[in-house]
Amino acid sequence: MELDTRQQFLTNNDCYKAGRPLEPKGVMIHSTGVAQPDPQVFIRRWDQPGVDKCAHAFVARDRAIQTLPWTVRGWHAGTGTSGRSANNTHLSLECCEPAGHTYTGGTMVGYDVEANRDYFDHIYRNAVQLTALLCRGFSLDPLEPGVVICHAEGYDLGIASRHGDVLQWWPKHGVSMDDFRRDVARAMAADGGMDQKRFDQMMEDYLARRALLPPSGWSKEARRWAQRAGVVAGGEDGEMRYQSFATREETVQMLYRLDQLEQPQE
Ligand SMILES: [Zn+2]
Repeated sequence: MELDTRQQFLTNNDCYKAGRPLEPKGVMIHSTGVAQPDPQVFIRRWDQPGVDKCAHAFVARDRAIQTLPWTVRGWHAGTGTSGRSANNTHLSLECCEPAGHTYTGGTMVGYDVEANRDYFDHIYRNAVQLTALLCRGFSLDPLEPGVVICHAEGYDLGIASRHGDVLQWWPKHGVSMDDFRRDVARAMAADGGMDQKRFDQMMEDYLARRALLPPSGWSKEARRWAQRAGVVAGGEDGEMRYQSFATREETVQMLYRLDQLEQPQE
């Protein structure tokens, strides 16, 4: 099943406003550490100034909600033991925990594994799908060391603050981070990364965006001549689409117009 992913950016969060650029080198998986399955509770709380954290997305039971642009630096990993921070390298996904348990220190108390099995399966599957999507989008290999990690692993690597997530939770359901990385890789492979339909669609999108780019200054004179002489004609919308690729059909059409130009009609 396709993952339902929506955007609801935390535009009032200082991290969003700072808008520092991020070139994603990995994905860090978190869990919120609170028995609260509704992501909107966090979104409301975090969408204001003075909050010292910000994640890229929340993973809920029935959807994922993107809360920061993927190329904006998040605030989810603290400073880390080495002074390096995963904030500078990793995207952050916050998995919402089910209702019903409490915490003593970093340990879940009163967590009902059986009752939460279905909830967990949904969260896990959504986290796999979203991580696979991000790995594909940013050309990341989830099986490479340090790429797809949880917060606790980030602490061990010295790039995140001292938190235990998601290892306080996921192993209760018999799932390790190695399982997760394997499942992400499997999801990427199963999806083939790309199929013809997706490629065609992306190509169409690319060409449409490309066509709208402004022409370069160096071609100014040539463009003026070509337009005046009627060698080129724009699209139906009047746009000249100078940054579009020309098909052979368009090329011969231009040559034909040029030929007509050089042999003035009697
Ligand atoms: Zn965390």
